[in-house]
This record gives sequence, structure tokens and C-alpha cells, in this order.
Amino acid sequence: MSTVQSVQSTIAKRGLVMVVTGNGKGKTTSAFGQALRAIGHGYKVCVIQFMKGRKYGEIIAAEKYIPDITIIQSGLDSFVMKDNPAPIDIDLAKQGFKKAQEIVKSKKYDLVILDEINVAVNFNLISEQEVIDLIKQKPLEVNLLLTGRYASDKIEEAADMVSDITEVKHHYNAGIKGQAGIEY
Ligand code: ATP
Ligand code: MG
Repeated sequence: MSTVQSVQSTIAKRGLVMVVTGNGKGKTTSAFGQALRAIGHGYKVCVIQFMKGRKYGEIIAAEKYIPDITIIQSGLDSFVMKDNPAPIDIDLAKQGFKKAQEIVKSKKYDLVILDEINVAVNFNLISEQEVIDLIKQKPLEVNLLLTGRYASDKIEEAADMVSDITEVKHHYNAGIKGQAGIEY
């Protein structure tokens, strides 16, 4: 193989670090769209959800129809207080992050999605430096996708791709409450 070809194949195999952040709706649903696309090409996908414990529609669907996706929830189905998180919220987030570190290092998954991890860092449930270390030390071929509003500058700097979803308008502000199939 020529040097040019081998460099190209190394580049092609390098997993990306992607961040989807911002205050508009569409971060978690975008991540699951990415998961579906990846699975279509034979990727093994693992999603670790922080600060979430509810059976969202995407989890119900994945359990029923998509064996190539593994979803781990590490949170409760209750609101986490930013300035005064309950000890259980901190514990669960830390446990979820430990699992994320193991899963990324195991190389068993081609795409690892850390859903809401940006929020967990912003709420000080998980250390920003540990997330940066995970990004820097990930196996070359693993793709990482980090979601959640409030992505830190350092996490954005460490990423290959950052999308910032901006709220232009949201039906919630017109009094339309969250609905099954749209919000959860
Ligand atoms: P989705 O899960 O629908 O893709 P998201 O991941 O972008 O949304 P989060 O920031 O994780 O949104 O917010 C959690 C919940 O709040 C979701 O039910 C989401 O639909 C809803 N939500 C998202 N953005 C807004 C907004 N700008 N105003 C009100 N509710 C929102
Ligand atoms: Mg979300």
C-alpha cells in the first residue's frame, strides 16, 4: 500500500468526536438519528444516558426493534437541581461515566453516545477534565457523540464537530406541554 493510501485509510478509520449542544430542541433525537444511520452500516452502538431514567420512545423502540443498539440509563426520572443535586444523582452520574470509560476503552462499540453528558458536566456531577481525558484517550477508531445543552468551551475545543442547535421557537412557550412521541 502506498503511503498516501495508508494515510487515507488511517484518516478514514479515525473515529470522530461530535458534540450536539444548544438550547433548541433536537439534540437527543439527532443522536438517535445518527445511531440509526450508523447501525444501517453495521456499526455497534452504545448510548449512555445521564440524568435520565424514563422509558423514552426511542428506548422502547430500540428494545423492540434494534438489537445492535445498547442503551444504558444512569439517572432517575426526576429533576436534578443544578445547585443542589441529590447525592443519588451525583452517584448515578459518576457510575454512568465509569461505565462510559469502560465501554469506550473496550472497543466493543463503534459509536458511543453520551446523551446529556454536557449537562452532567455543567451541573458538576461529572468532572470536565475526565471527559476531556476520555476524548483524548479514546481508541482511535471509536466515534463519540456528546449531547446536551451547555457544552463547555474545552469540550467543544476537543471535538471534531460541534453543532449548536438554537431555539428559534418552541411550542412549550405557547403552553403546549411535552407529548409522548414528540418530547419523550
Ligand atoms: P429532543 O430529546 O426532543 O431531541 P433535546 O435533546 O434537544 O430534545 P433537552 O435539552 O435534552 O432537549 O431537553 C429535554 C426536554 O426538553 C426534551 O423533552 C425536549 O423535547 C424539551 N426541549 C428541548 N428544547 C426545548 C426548548 N427550547 N423549550 C422547551 N422544551 C425543550
Ligand atoms: Mg436531550
